[in-house]
Amino acid sequence: MHFRLKNAKCKPFAFSRCCVYFNTMISQLSVLKANGYKLTKNRKLVLEKLLENRKPLTLNDIKNLCGEINFATIYRIVNLYLSLGIVNEVKLFDKQTHYELMGNDHHHHIICIKCGKIERLDLCIINKVQQLTDFQITSHIMEFKGICPQCKK
Ligand SMILES: [Zn+2]
Ligand SMILES: [Zn+2]
Ligand SMILES: [Zn+2]
Repeated sequence: MHFRLKNAKCKPFAFSRCCVYFNTMISQLSVLKANGYKLTKNRKLVLEKLLENRKPLTLNDIKNLCGEINFATIYRIVNLYLSLGIVNEVKLFDKQTHYELMGNDHHHHIICIKCGKIERLDLCIINKVQQLTDFQITSHIMEFKGICPQCKK
């Protein structure tokens, strides 16, 4: 599920979705290469799943998406990506660590308090806040909690 704020002109959102996808893939691949790592079949699959899903995933989520790769391998790959700065640890209100690709597409998250699922929010109100306060905003944290559509039923 994605949200957009109509009047906010957040620069990173000017990229089209597939442009972000392409640029992210290329830059992550070059990080691997620059550090002397080969793009193995498994590494590629994990990278693809993270890109396709565009939201924070747990190691178990990644394992389920990747099918045949075992958990230890997933763990090793994600840790390699962490050490290279290819993925980011996302720790929100829940205890489970989620991982997502580092990208230049700025966004926030919303988490379900029942099942712990995290969705990405393609929305930011930084420009609005800047307008309202005349502050030059240097950093911000914006997190949402709620009950997801599945858990609401
Ligand atoms: Zn995210
Ligand atoms: Zn839920
Ligand atoms: Zn923001």
